[in-house]
Amino acid sequence: MPIIKEITIEPNLPSKLLPLLDIAYNLWWTWTPDAIYLFEDMDRECWERVNHNPVALLGTIEQPRLEELSSDEVFLARMEAVKSELDRYLASKTWYHKVKQNEGLIAYFSAEFGLHESLPLYSGGLGILAGDHMKSASDLGLPLVGVGLLYKHGYLTQYLNPDGWQLEKYPANDFYKMPLRPVMQDDGTPLLVDIPIGERTVWARVWDLTVGRVHIYLLDTDVSENSSDDRQITSFLYGGDLETRLKQEIVLGMGGIRALNAMGNCPTVCHMNEGHSAFMAIERLLQVRLSENFDFDQALEVVKSTNIFTTHTPVPAGIDRFPPDLIQRYFKGIVQHLGISMEKFLGLGRINPKDHGELFCMAVLAIKMASQTNGVSKLHGEVSRRMWSAIWPNIPTHEVPITHITNGIHTLGWLSSEMARLYQRYLGSRWIDEPTNHSIWKRVAGIPNFELWRSKERLRDRLISFARYRLKKQLEEKGAPRYKLKEADEVLDPEALTIGFARRFATYKRATLLFKDVERLKRILTNEERPVQIIFAGKAHPKDKDGKELIHKIVQMANLPEFRKHIVFIENYDIEVARFLVQGVDVWLNTPRRPLEASGTSGMKVTANGGINLSILDGWWVEAYNGTNGWAIGAGEEYDDPVYQDEVESRLLYELLENTVVPLFYQRNSQNVPDEWVEMMKNSIQTICPFFNTNRMVEEYSNQFYLPGLYRWELLTKDGWKETKEICNWKRKIYEVWPRVKILKVELPTDDKPKVGDRIPIKVIVDLAGLGPDEVRVEAYIGRFDEFGNLTGGSPLPLLPSGELDGSAHVFTGKILCLSSGRIGFTVRCYPYRIELGHQFELGQLTWWE
Ligand SMILES: *Cc1c(COP(=O)(O)O)cnc(C)c1O
Repeated sequence: MPIIKEITIEPNLPSKLLPLLDIAYNLWWTWTPDAIYLFEDMDRECWERVNHNPVALLGTIEQPRLEELSSDEVFLARMEAVKSELDRYLASKTWYHKVKQNEGLIAYFSAEFGLHESLPLYSGGLGILAGDHMKSASDLGLPLVGVGLLYKHGYLTQYLNPDGWQLEKYPANDFYKMPLRPVMQDDGTPLLVDIPIGERTVWARVWDLTVGRVHIYLLDTDVSENSSDDRQITSFLYGGDLETRLKQEIVLGMGGIRALNAMGNCPTVCHMNEGHSAFMAIERLLQVRLSENFDFDQALEVVKSTNIFTTHTPVPAGIDRFPPDLIQRYFKGIVQHLGISMEKFLGLGRINPKDHGELFCMAVLAIKMASQTNGVSKLHGEVSRRMWSAIWPNIPTHEVPITHITNGIHTLGWLSSEMARLYQRYLGSRWIDEPTNHSIWKRVAGIPNFELWRSKERLRDRLISFARYRLKKQLEEKGAPRYKLKEADEVLDPEALTIGFARRFATYKRATLLFKDVERLKRILTNEERPVQIIFAGKAHPKDKDGKELIHKIVQMANLPEFRKHIVFIENYDIEVARFLVQGVDVWLNTPRRPLEASGTSGMKVTANGGINLSILDGWWVEAYNGTNGWAIGAGEEYDDPVYQDEVESRLLYELLENTVVPLFYQRNSQNVPDEWVEMMKNSIQTICPFFNTNRMVEEYSNQFYLPGLYRWELLTKDGWKETKEICNWKRKIYEVWPRVKILKVELPTDDKPKVGDRIPIKVIVDLAGLGPDEVRVEAYIGRFDEFGNLTGGSPLPLLPSGELDGSAHVFTGKILCLSSGRIGFTVRCYPYRIELGHQFELGQLTWWE
């Protein structure tokens, strides 16, 4: 092998154009239209060719054109304006300045980040959410860094063979043509982080990706210090076998913490976006334990109370589970340093730690390593509490400590410039800095219907041109004859009601529900006066045969002569395709099998651009739908029989389209504007935009998790970690005495019959086994009976300590208010309590009256 040396050649920009580099290397430009136009106008053809990547653009554009631009006064003035806008953004005061209480650093871990089409480091919703989380964290000025992996080949690029079967390509990324900079050491060499993987050390380079005020650090194992196997660890996003996945997750979690440390950062609050990064907690445990000479429980106290976990999937197959022997092989050495047995370690990833057959589940590990766990919509919170209730066997399902924070979008990043201009004109400029302000969004009512409608029509028009362009390109690549290419110019109608359906082709999303009754669909689409058309896009996971089958079926349908002009499948769904679709469609169709859609966010993008949602009441739509801001398919039913469900729900969908959606769209006033439709657009924007955005979402994460986490870290570490030691001692005492805590006696008045409005006095005697009454909570627990005689939907009523009896018995009293008539169920419970706990059932101890 010859020696091959790596040399990086920087673009030779005329000095006057150097500010372009600052703009190109900060993804702030991706949500700033003037910055986008600036790059686009440098060389439109080149801009398309480099997939809208300004770093590649500056390196590819011909030198004479650069010289020309450097003496173009107008261009230079525009560039300076954008640069000052960036500087202003970076220097301005933020939300965080107002709320800041404690020092510290928040690290946000994610296996994928979807920030822009030119950075293929994402597969779908999870990554897009992470990307939008970063953009809003930047807007809000949080002290937050992202941590992820830099994949050589990213996720699959989709293309279809002439029969409509999905094939995949994995083009290699050239990191030097991306807005990435390797993190350097003081001596000018790239930083390398060592990560223990099994018996070996794997090295990772760290790349810095800048998103406004926020940095994302991406780890990359493709360095010459590694064996050729290890160089491949970060090759593919969600590719490779189980063992590769495990290695990736060690690099992401453990390597991520080490990378931050190597740069001099000690994260004090860590957020796991899905379970892939849960090994992060193991590295944190090791560090705290070794540096403070703590035992495992003490280290866990600190780490757990400053970790946050967001779960994203209600589909069990979507969660990583590793066989115990694989974990054993990779974590033998680490477990020794943790000072626990391998069995105990394996138990951290099991619902039932004693079940040796149970696989090691990353979501369970994350839950057990975090003091706060949340789902991503209200409904998904409920589903997650049910799904994971076995981890807290004694606790009623609705009190399982998993909350929810509903997802959002970074509105500016998804907004068309047409709509942005309209909002600017009619809402004022404050909507950009205060996207969560309901009263500002109310002003949408003042946009003249005519103007709003014209903007929508322009956006639809652009979508149709894009779809035709893509279709033609797809046909060309398949070697289609010339007449076919010509036909591509005639598909779709810029005036027709346009429905979009784009998402991952997982079977639960039911992309083909609309084809249940092909004749009926044909009547809807091909009505001469009121034509309807559908644009599809989406990838199937390479191993998902059923998903590929769905794509095949849609393409077959789109090829039928009667549907040819009305149905189009755009290949390779990515952020760019998504942008055209969500901006251009009139109706966004979503047909998941409830409750399998955790949240979904694409419908939110559509709303901001004046499209209307037509969806099953699942995920975010349950929370958003109010009867006048879109359409619901069904009423939120769940079915046992999927065939029957498809039958019922497809019929509901056809009826909605035939009787409601299509007529409303074509009901025009004298100016050819569908007034009622536009009213619905306005309702939708007003009610959805102020809430379903990531600025609101990240504020919620901050108020509920980040700020308390930063506070807890300070509390636990100050004065020589005094509080940590105290809480650990207290917990140890609790675990020891709790088996002896007993509810001895419950006294209720027996004589009279209570009526609505009465208060029933209650007196409870508890043997606290030596604990003080302030170390526990005693609660009356009141609910209704279900058909099996069990108590359901109970709610607790705290009882107050009212004196001590002989020995260790204590009295607690309170009054139950009779709110409504009928039979109520009632019991009493007791659990250890301390204000510093992350949640009330943190110790998992709960004693019921028996
Ligand atoms: C927004 C988006 C998603 C996620 O949206 P869903 O509603 O969950 O389907 C997935 N992929 C891309 C490219 C997106 O832009």
